[in-house]
Amino acid sequence: MGALHFRGTGLPDERQVEYWVDQGVISAEPIPGAETVCESGWIVPGLVDAHCHVGIKFGCGGGESVGGLIAQAETERDAGVLLIRDAGSPVDTRWVDDRPDLPRIVRAGRHIAAPKRYIRGLPVDLEDEAQLPAEMVRQARAGDGWVKLVGDWIDRSTGDLAPLWSDGILVEAIKAAHREGARVTAHVFAEDALPGLINAGIDCIEHGTGLTDETIELMVAHGTALVPTLINIATFPQIADSASRFPIYAAHLRDLHSRAKDTIGAAREAGIPIYAGTDAGGSIVHGRIADEVEELKAVGLSPVEALGAACWDARTWLGHPGLEAGAAADLLVFRNDPRVSSDALAAPDVVVLRGNVVKTR
Ligand SMILES: [Zn+2]
Repeated sequence: MGALHFRGTGLPDERQVEYWVDQGVISAEPIPGAETVCESGWIVPGLVDAHCHVGIKFGCGGGESVGGLIAQAETERDAGVLLIRDAGSPVDTRWVDDRPDLPRIVRAGRHIAAPKRYIRGLPVDLEDEAQLPAEMVRQARAGDGWVKLVGDWIDRSTGDLAPLWSDGILVEAIKAAHREGARVTAHVFAEDALPGLINAGIDCIEHGTGLTDETIELMVAHGTALVPTLINIATFPQIADSASRFPIYAAHLRDLHSRAKDTIGAAREAGIPIYAGTDAGGSIVHGRIADEVEELKAVGLSPVEALGAACWDARTWLGHPGLEAGAAADLLVFRNDPRVSSDALAAPDVVVLRGNVVKTR
């Protein structure tokens, strides 16, 4: 493909922008003779899904086939998601990096859990928590700068959500990951696992429905980020319905769900950085980033903040540039303002990945 040229309105600052693209990157200088793709429209960097499991088989929770995994990645790409933080995958997706037609994946290696304390077939199960620091190092080296812990899960002996790890081992384990240059995040639904994780210096919390005024304050003090996955939280009542053998657990999930909007809203109000993640993979279908952005507006993010949480702000957080000279040309063009409605955001008119137009409407 020859050089390309785009003209439109950039976000978040609503300035008129013009980009020239050659050899997959944004040029610092106009390129004479470049083919003009658009003369108008809203131009933004590729969207980010900050919690998106490429490689988990839908419904059963095991590893996905190569064909299925490609279909997942293509679905995300066509929805405008060009950068994915995978938040844990049971299969090695490193080869995706060699596919110029698929989104970029920031990997977290495999989930780390304890036996019977997460979805079967997904995590590395540690018999003894003393193994945690060494496993964090292993998964840090298998990933792209993130490690994913299961912070809490149902403990069948008590019939309620409970932490997997003691505070002491978390301090040691998170330190070990940080020494590898990796950031750490954890799946946390309930209240009790949060203080230990945040005090140990964890970088991000996934879901966070159990946040309280105290743990929100702790996250602010530590600069911890939050990826609530609101469209996944919306399924808590269904999870509770299917867990009738564990009535305390089911009631706990329903309670967390009933307060979730206020909880995540309070986190936002306190200034915790919030990013958009769908948790697509096991039980959420791929391609729903626009729905998550809409849910973020419902908990109090302004339209431009909500889009930033799935775009420029998330890219900065993950260490990927936006649209600047020398950066990869991963961009979207929308005829309709993508801040206004999820319908507009869900349907980018032009998707450009590594300087190639991979979708036009
Ligand atoms: Zn997840």
